[in-house]
Amino acid sequence: MSSPKPKIAFYWCASCGGCEETVVDLAEDILGVIEKVDIVLWPVAMDFKYKNVEAMPDKSITATLLNGAIRSSEQEEMARLLRRKSQFLIAYGSCAVSGGIPSLANQFTREQILKFNYEDAPTVVNEAKTRPRLEYQNNGHTLTLPELRNVVRALDQVVDVDYYVPGCPPTPNITKTAITALLEGKLPPKGSVLAPNIALCDECPRKRTRPTSASFMDFKRPHQLLADPELCFLAQSVVCMGPATRSGCGSQCPAGNMPCTGCFGPTSRVRDQGVKLMSSLCANIAAKEEDEIGKVLEGIPDPIGTFYRYGLAKSLLRRKMNLPFSGERNGHG
Ligand code: SF4
Ligand code: SF4
Repeated sequence: MSSPKPKIAFYWCASCGGCEETVVDLAEDILGVIEKVDIVLWPVAMDFKYKNVEAMPDKSITATLLNGAIRSSEQEEMARLLRRKSQFLIAYGSCAVSGGIPSLANQFTREQILKFNYEDAPTVVNEAKTRPRLEYQNNGHTLTLPELRNVVRALDQVVDVDYYVPGCPPTPNITKTAITALLEGKLPPKGSVLAPNIALCDECPRKRTRPTSASFMDFKRPHQLLADPELCFLAQSVVCMGPATRSGCGSQCPAGNMPCTGCFGPTSRVRDQGVKLMSSLCANIAAKEEDEIGKVLEGIPDPIGTFYRYGLAKSLLRRKMNLPFSGERNGHG
């Protein structure tokens, strides 16, 4: 007889594994979750096979929390399979929500990435310039590898997504709130981000010192100053993504004397998180002449990594080159 408990799946795609850690970081709360649900797929912790998932009836998984971006043919296939098998598909963590750090790869072509990783990286010794092959014959057997796609995509750029849990990684609190809402059937409308819809500055302990009219003479990176732990980072000429970022993390970075880097993504009122912050910073640069403005902007040596660290795939830029989404079979050696 099948269990009446809701069935939950966890899966990871192009991910560092940090989101999986958050589930473990629920500590004793994980026991409460395990009591209330049947975990039917969790490759990082339990042994399940692809064929087990394939054999499940469609929509038999109550909810899948999928973390990581979609970079390979295998990840795309798993996203489509889990979409079919799940009543609710939840993009869990900034890589699934908006491409995350893996989508910074969209600044380069696949060929540039493969060449660097298998030939040019200083730590690589590969005189034969060997690269992974999609197919390899050995003793009458064909071995295959997943195909690397041309671009990194967020989960909803591949399949329909029901809810979004942001963060890099999502905090245990946000995770617990999302799982509780799911188990109690108290979910907001489909498509909602399960985090407060206000900017981080509203909950930041430094908000009283945020300048109302800044005039930036330069920009400093966090390692270039001893930051005042009470003062708003913008008042110290350090780029802080707080004004363009959704709250819900408990202001962890400002509390640790580091500026927000934007991992919770934008609020619903902001279309493009990077543009939002860039336009407000650039409007407040003190210099007026082009070369002086250029010198001020030298303080932000990696604008894409600064303003789109977690969301290049879903930004207006999306990717630097005009690349087709699907992978061709060349470029893999
Ligand atoms: S800009 Fe950063 S430091 Fe300043 S109030 Fe907002 S989140 Fe806090
Ligand atoms: S302060 Fe910003 S970067 Fe840090 S956890 Fe919160 S949203 Fe993420």
